[in-house]
Amino acid sequence: MLKDLSAINPNVTRIVSDINYIRPKFLEYPMNETRVHAAASCKDDYDPRSLPVDIALERIESVVAPITGFETLPIRSALDRVLVQDVDSKVDVPAHTNSAMDGYAIKGTQIPAKGTQELTMIGTSWAGRPFRNEVGKNQCVRIMTGAVMPAGTDTVIMQEHVELEGTRVRFNANHKPGQNVRQAGEDIAQGAVVLNAGKRLTPADIGLLASLGIGEVVVRRRPRVAFFSTGDELRSLGDPLEEGAIYDSNRYTLYGMLTRLGADIIDMGVIRDIREDTFSAFQEAAKSADVIITSGGVSVGEADYVKETLDRVGKINFWKVAMKPGRPLAFGRIDNAYFFGLPGNPVSVMVTFYIFVQPALRKLMGETKIENLLLRLPCHSKLRKKPGRVEYQRGIIERDEQGHYGVSKAGPQGSGILHSMTTSNCFIVLPMESAGVEPGTKVEVLPFQGLI
Ligand code: AMP
Ligand code: MG
Repeated sequence: MLKDLSAINPNVTRIVSDINYIRPKFLEYPMNETRVHAAASCKDDYDPRSLPVDIALERIESVVAPITGFETLPIRSALDRVLVQDVDSKVDVPAHTNSAMDGYAIKGTQIPAKGTQELTMIGTSWAGRPFRNEVGKNQCVRIMTGAVMPAGTDTVIMQEHVELEGTRVRFNANHKPGQNVRQAGEDIAQGAVVLNAGKRLTPADIGLLASLGIGEVVVRRRPRVAFFSTGDELRSLGDPLEEGAIYDSNRYTLYGMLTRLGADIIDMGVIRDIREDTFSAFQEAAKSADVIITSGGVSVGEADYVKETLDRVGKINFWKVAMKPGRPLAFGRIDNAYFFGLPGNPVSVMVTFYIFVQPALRKLMGETKIENLLLRLPCHSKLRKKPGRVEYQRGIIERDEQGHYGVSKAGPQGSGILHSMTTSNCFIVLPMESAGVEPGTKVEVLPFQGLI
């Protein structure tokens, strides 16, 4: 049993950490400060010195500012880039008042009060080939969907609602003036903002821009992200694996996620645990990159030089975040670059990237609406967990035979088991206080949404 409920009550943690949060120099947050004086028991995972995920996120968010450089690009090249300015329409959409139906364009005043009305058809208005003459009293024009309404008309009678005899067009009183007509500017009025600054351009967005005749937009430049792996045990592809050595996989997962986010990547390879190599790698990275990401070497008891070097080259915090996987995390600055020191375990790298690096990069790229889709779904599996940390378990969102969505656990959850990342499509997010989940319980689910 927990001796002190404040140990697992996130509100208590939040209040205490807010006090720390308003310190003027957030970068000097003392990692070993005991903020909640509660004894952790062997039945929970709570570490009183740990930092809640949302506080870590707020601290990162409060420091990261959008890149100032921008460029003008043709809309195709601007796909997935972020707009610097609002885009407003130079034209009305639709540009002309046109028919919403195949039928007959008339003047609304010709609709009879009762009985029927007969008009003479004097021509046709095709989509793209308007009828150029004025339509007079007792006249009408055959009109196609999308065709410009001829001068003197404002109403369309559907072709199914008329009786036709040669050029004689007859219809009854059951019609309203103005019906079946799309007004110029009805979708978008000239001067209206169609896309806001801070929007990441989607295929629909560039289609919309094209529909307005806009061929170029001003977008922020891509961020340059340098990354490398640290550890003597790491080998690159093609190298033989001697006993105790492993292939470096983190550079590949990072490559994939950074590419999908639209960063310019600088892959610096594996840096061995040699003091001078580590030092010059950071110096080199800081020269050209907006963001530096490393994996490995930030956990307690590392035999390498990453921490020591970081203390020399930058202003870095080493946090123990109250999450699993991914507890150790370093964040700060090296010269003008933001630095993220992710844990070494392959799954921890992906989780911490998703939770911390992704929103930071998106803010850096200028995006203003940064929200991960969070669903609540019934969980079909039993999930084991100790209270005290937020857990991101790998899950699979699936539909059952009745067509209802639910989530189940995707295999073993060890932080080194990359295989279960490949079979999963979401994280199941279990809050600090959760002590596990019984089948049938609703849980929060974070779909990968194409990033992982
Ligand atoms: P560390 O955070 O450096 O203590 O690493 C934690 C675990 O992750 C160790 O088992 C490392 O061998 C492993 N690891 C670290 N970096 C990588 C990498 N780039 N690729 C695959 N595994 C790694
Ligand atoms: Mg290591």
